[in-house]
Amino acid sequence: MPICWLISEEGNHKPIHLPHLQTVVVGRGPETTIKDKKCSRQQVELKAECNKGYVKVKQLGLNPTSVDSVVVGKDNEVKIKPGQQLHIVNHLYPYTVQFKADPTGNHSSTKRPRELTPEDSKSQGEAQKMKATKQTEKVSVPVSHGETTKTSEGAGHWSQGLKTSMQDPKMQIYKDDKVVVIKDKYPKARHHWLVLPWQSIPSLKALRKEDCDLVKHMQQVADRMVEQCPDSSSLRFRTGYHAIPSMSHVHLHVISQDFDSPCLKNKKHWNSFTTDYFVDSREVIQMLETHGKVMVKEGTAELLKLPLRCHVCFKELPTIPALKLHLASHFPR
Ligand code: AMP
Ligand code: ZN
Repeated sequence: MPICWLISEEGNHKPIHLPHLQTVVVGRGPETTIKDKKCSRQQVELKAECNKGYVKVKQLGLNPTSVDSVVVGKDNEVKIKPGQQLHIVNHLYPYTVQFKADPTGNHSSTKRPRELTPEDSKSQGEAQKMKATKQTEKVSVPVSHGETTKTSEGAGHWSQGLKTSMQDPKMQIYKDDKVVVIKDKYPKARHHWLVLPWQSIPSLKALRKEDCDLVKHMQQVADRMVEQCPDSSSLRFRTGYHAIPSMSHVHLHVISQDFDSPCLKNKKHWNSFTTDYFVDSREVIQMLETHGKVMVKEGTAELLKLPLRCHVCFKELPTIPALKLHLASHFPR
């Protein structure tokens, strides 16, 4: 049976052994060196299933634990596989899990592995199945750029909503054997669609070189959607991904650049589409081809706090209503 290790990506401490089927609770404390008060001493419960090659992650603390940027949610449980990234709290303190063959054949060994390579296992994560647990506590980050509701949606956490929508024929506007296109439920512009692969890929961070063809296909479908839009001669469109998504299941935004929508309500919405927080699809393809993965720059989360600036003339506006009034001059109806 392989041995499972929890590895601090920042190299803050030695790997922590996760014995098969035993719960290990990690959080603030000397073992992780985390001193952040936002992190509970009992923030996450981990249970390795070494025969299956994954670790069950349960968020015990109030502030969000996330896997591949998707919030687990208090008392919810998801699986993490090698290649996926666990952030202990508030998108901080990155960890991965790794399985190494036990050379002694003794699966209760606590010896550290000699070398730990992320290639040990394929990174593609399977869908994170959320328990339909009641979740009433509010969390501070991440925000849903979609909506402000942070309670569960009955069948699952709000962050799982795209998985439901993509299966709903009423939401689908195009589908083929690889992808489906749906209308964004809370469009931030006159035209706003999401292209999702049928294949279960949790987020941008889980994409690898072998997904290049799929991501190119998503781009082609997005381009076709734009071409077929009657407003495409008068409106500019962008196709890209939020560097740190709020919703699970990788999705390509196709959005007209008028940002004329009542659903665009706050600075986070605005900056998520008009700063480098929005990563062009072509840039994603290039990163996959060159580096085999998508790299998110440090400080990206901070971009959401930037002042409101018009994306056409770069004028700074003090409030969202002032920005909307200003945008109307660029994009008359
Ligand atoms: P992000 O995860 O930040 O890339 O954005 C998720 C997008 O999904 C936002 O534009 C939301 O408006 C949209 N959205 C949220 N919930 C749903 C849903 N249930 N169905 C369709 N779109 C949704
Ligand atoms: Zn302007």
